[in-house]
Amino acid sequence: MNKAAIYMRVSTQNQEKEETIGNQELELLARIAEDADSILNSDCIYKDDGWSGMILERPGIDQMQADALDKKFDVLYFYDRGRISRKHYYQQIVFDVLDKANIKYISLHDVNGDTDEDKLAGNILGLFAEYERTKIASRMRIGKLRKVREHKKLLGYNPKYGYDYLPRIKKGLDERDGQFVINDLQAKTVVSIYQWSASGMSKHAIRDKLYENRVIPAKAKRNIWSTSVIDRLLRDSTYMGVHYYNKTESVETKNHRNPDLKYRKVVKGSRIQRPKDDWLMVNVPVIIAPELFHKVQQQLLRNKKTSRRNNSKNSYLVGGIIECPCGYARTGDPANGCLYYRCCDRLNNPLGNRKCFLPGVNATVLDSLVWENLKKLLTQPQLVFEQAKRWQEGMSPLQLQSENLKERLVRLNESESRYAKMYGEALMSEQIYRDNMMTINSSRTAIADEMTIVEKELAGKPLVPLEQLVDGVIKLVEDLDFNQKKQIVQKTVTKVIATKEEVTVWGRLPVLALQEVGSDVKYSHSKDETQRENSRKLSEVELDVKYRHRRPPQRRQIHPLQRSDR
Ligand SMILES: [Zn+2]
Repeated sequence: MNKAAIYMRVSTQNQEKEETIGNQELELLARIAEDADSILNSDCIYKDDGWSGMILERPGIDQMQADALDKKFDVLYFYDRGRISRKHYYQQIVFDVLDKANIKYISLHDVNGDTDEDKLAGNILGLFAEYERTKIASRMRIGKLRKVREHKKLLGYNPKYGYDYLPRIKKGLDERDGQFVINDLQAKTVVSIYQWSASGMSKHAIRDKLYENRVIPAKAKRNIWSTSVIDRLLRDSTYMGVHYYNKTESVETKNHRNPDLKYRKVVKGSRIQRPKDDWLMVNVPVIIAPELFHKVQQQLLRNKKTSRRNNSKNSYLVGGIIECPCGYARTGDPANGCLYYRCCDRLNNPLGNRKCFLPGVNATVLDSLVWENLKKLLTQPQLVFEQAKRWQEGMSPLQLQSENLKERLVRLNESESRYAKMYGEALMSEQIYRDNMMTINSSRTAIADEMTIVEKELAGKPLVPLEQLVDGVIKLVEDLDFNQKKQIVQKTVTKVIATKEEVTVWGRLPVLALQEVGSDVKYSHSKDETQRENSRKLSEVELDVKYRHRRPPQRRQIHPLQRSDR
């Protein structure tokens, strides 16, 4: 008796066509029941539900192959070769694994058999099927495009929000083309969104308003609109009656949100816009009057100009590296004339959906805190001195050249004494000795000439005294403008986690060459004399700076800082 396994796959697309895993399973089980020498091993039922056949990395098929190698079953049943993969050579990869494990496979709707002829026939049919499928798909697509282009008719469609799609009825009294009709309820929402936007409301504000009014998006998993959907809706000319077919196409995703994910259900997970020439225009019922539509486009442009993100007027020193203890990033957010770093959980999720209730951190206070501490580290005279020394001792190209020349001179002298020795011991004729000496002497003259030039150049560049260099560096750090400070912060600080009460800064300070300074060098960076040693040149320094930001006596007045440890 053979232990039987079954493998089933159905893609998301085909599910909609009522082709379900259930149907495959029924048919496979019936076939196993018919085959007198097979009995289903209930541990060996493999499914990939909602997976594209263009992908071979699927959890079900991987498990099936692993179990095949472990000999958990003797024969594999599947509906047709297309279940294994839509690509012929992928099928072959899987069949090779099965052959290697000495496992038979039975496809319900293909040529089966153990002889080489049968296998070849199966292969050829598989190849043809793949070719046919590609051809048909391509013809269908071209045919569809032609119909839209020539007859301006809509075919098989996911309607835009605000519309329903009535499919084409081919025959009879009700004969009609596919068309968009207005969905009254959704259209009302579309109008509201446009009116809000025209009145100057931001996308975030619109989203919050929709949430307050309990308007749920059509396809969302959550009951919140995403601002990008609102943005697309506000720019979609469909709503003023001009709809485009063939506007976008799906492409392979380049930057995955979760790059470590092992299995991906679809190959082409992203959409991009096609060139405008490829768009096909179809007229649909109007929801938004053109005047309102254009007014909104103007408003969106204005929003872009005044947007926080594009607003360089407000300067945030640790923007992009500051986080909230809850795990979300914090981002710059001005309010009532003050700048704050606020938790993105709060900014992105309105009202009931937000999980973090930590207050914003005053950006002006935090920025100066971070900078002052970083500056203290960067400008410790002893450290700067060591660094300056290292830098100064480092060789310039000119110095390297000079060293090189000196070395060549040493080697020449060595050769000279070697030749003299050989000549003295009568190992070299006088003629050859003289020739060699002449070559050496001319080389020596050339080197001496070169040396004179290099030394003259070196003399023209006097060394700055180290103390002067150190003072210069310290003064430079004191006088940096905001952009220079920001550059330094972005290069040295890797992470800031802040609440109103406490701020922790992580960073890398490449100037701390403590290895050479010796491990007895300690630097303190806050009043509590927290001292840290570091023995690595590139050190990950935790700055452990703890402060309490006392509430100011008057609102919105930045108060001098009070440290928690005082
Ligand atoms: Zn938070």
